[in-house]
Amino acid sequence: MAIVFTKPTITGNEQKYFRQALQAPLTNRHWAGDGPFTRRCSSLIEKRFKASKVLLTPSGTHALELAALLLNLGAGDEVIVPSFTFSSSINCFMLAGARPVFVDVREDTLNIDEHLIEKNISKRTRAIFPVHYAGVSCNMKKINAIAKAHGLAVVEDAAQAVNARYNGRYLGTIGDLGVYSFHESKNYSCGEGGALVINDAGLIELAEILREKGTNRSKFFRGEVDKYTWVDVGSSYLLSDLLAAILYAQLENLNTIQRRRRHLYRQYERKLHPLAQEGKLRLPVIPKDCQTNYHIFYILLPTESVRNSLMDYLKKKGILAVFHYIPLHTSPMGKRLGYKRGDFPLTEELSGRLLRLPLYPDLSQTEQHTVIRAIQEFFTD
Ligand SMILES: *Cc1c(COP(=O)(O)O)cnc(C)c1O
Repeated sequence: MAIVFTKPTITGNEQKYFRQALQAPLTNRHWAGDGPFTRRCSSLIEKRFKASKVLLTPSGTHALELAALLLNLGAGDEVIVPSFTFSSSINCFMLAGARPVFVDVREDTLNIDEHLIEKNISKRTRAIFPVHYAGVSCNMKKINAIAKAHGLAVVEDAAQAVNARYNGRYLGTIGDLGVYSFHESKNYSCGEGGALVINDAGLIELAEILREKGTNRSKFFRGEVDKYTWVDVGSSYLLSDLLAAILYAQLENLNTIQRRRRHLYRQYERKLHPLAQEGKLRLPVIPKDCQTNYHIFYILLPTESVRNSLMDYLKKKGILAVFHYIPLHTSPMGKRLGYKRGDFPLTEELSGRLLRLPLYPDLSQTEQHTVIRAIQEFFTD
């Protein structure tokens, strides 16, 4: 492909910090988790996003699993989630034995429809896992109010939403727990990485234990206990400090990366606006109380077959534009859970009409122009 869909960017200090971590003098060489770069990353996120506690994990998927473990979700429990999401949003609590209860999405943002949550709550419901699609917030005000009224936990899957806000508050810091991903396809990356944001202070100590193989080693490292021991059933959810070194360079440039993405995003909006006016396609909708991080720029075509033709047309011109989630309720695993096509009409329809355009800091102006021209030509040819 001449123009790829996404690629990670190097912002400046990645090599330098990685080398510092790798080649640190033997007396303080620390390649495992929770070393100096991990501490810098966590405290940068805690300060910038006003988060009470941030724990780096090996991926967003692992952070979701840690969240499910922390909430003690298990057999007999139900979790309310959108079907328009990545498998990890569901696997995390299914591994613990809980079941998903899928809900349709909103037409404007493709986020979980908050108006459909309450009627899906049963005696077994324990939590709501909203997913902030494309870095645009769900209606967290309503979701938190429902959760409070029914005694449910809220875990924000903010994997795509690092540095995005809702009424000024950073996504991931609004529910009881929040999850970030630093996968290479996300805005800020170290290849594979993630974080769990803990907003319920009562969960911090247990989270540290579950993440450290069920031991109180975190307390020991802080000198709060004089030896560490096995205190619970946990696993290993730490990110290597070598990767945290790369991540720290990216986080230092949080806003530089976002500004570049914003520029490209707005350019797409401006240049495709006439086609939207003619009814040829629909642009993303960002509600007034949401401040996006410009993670994804997608367009919605009138039908699935127009979407597929445009995707093929772009591919022939060497441009990779891609669809996104196949609704989970229509997947083989979704069928095994008892769901079928037709259960969530809006999710199915929007998923079929959606096309994501190349968007990453190193996409040049010329390349973006080529993408835009090709879309214009598709509609005039
Ligand atoms: C990327 C992503 C994940 C998983 O993150 P990884 O770091 O790749 O494990 C989970 N949920 C959503 C919505 C994502 O986009």
